[in-house]
Amino acid sequence: MKKLFIIKCLLLTAIFCRAQRGDPALTELWSPVPAVVAPGYTSLDAPSDAIILFNGKDASQWQTKDDKPHSWKVADNMLTIPSLGGDIKTKQSFGDCQLHIEWRTPAVVSGEGQGRGNSGIFLMGRYELQVLDSYNNSTYSNGQAGSIYKQHIPMVNASRAPGQWQVYDIIFTAPQFFESGALKSPARMTALHNGVLILNNVTLWGATQFIGVPKYEKHALKEPLLLQDHRNPVSFRNIWIREL
Ligand code: MG
Repeated sequence: MKKLFIIKCLLLTAIFCRAQRGDPALTELWSPVPAVVAPGYTSLDAPSDAIILFNGKDASQWQTKDDKPHSWKVADNMLTIPSLGGDIKTKQSFGDCQLHIEWRTPAVVSGEGQGRGNSGIFLMGRYELQVLDSYNNSTYSNGQAGSIYKQHIPMVNASRAPGQWQVYDIIFTAPQFFESGALKSPARMTALHNGVLILNNVTLWGATQFIGVPKYEKHALKEPLLLQDHRNPVSFRNIWIREL
């Protein structure tokens, strides 16, 4: 009996070590597959107390990760990821917030799975709500559009077809830490995809990880919002935020 317990412990430790070492497939969940729902909602103008992060013309609220001017393209009322543009982040930092952001994956489909219209909205630069063309595009469920990447599967798949504008409305509660660095309260997120509830006040397990298990590391009460360059020309428009 004792022997069996020790073997079990060794096996779990081996799996955990392998996950931490380098196989991203170990944290992919392929089921359940969220049901497809046809959305109805298209856009929402900023309310009077919102901070406008992109109005279709001015992307000066954004910079590169190392605080330099970014090269994302502003044209036709949208902000588009250029080739080798790199991630961008807001100059201003945010904690608890309501965020509205509209995004569009390329109309001409190229690639598959995670390589199709991939970007991401990283709250506090760490916690990713996945942006992906998940319209008839199979991938692991905890990595599709509307997932908190490798943490939470969206309740349904409310994706529009590639080339159409899509909307995320996000309500985010920032994590809190003790002076010692220990976690006081985890981050939480509620999100609507094209007006459809996909995440209902879920608790985040830590900062997004491609490989291995997410974990929290102490950071400031407010941090910049980050948009991911995943080498796909995804566009954004009408980005606004309300501090809570
Ligand atoms: Mg992504």
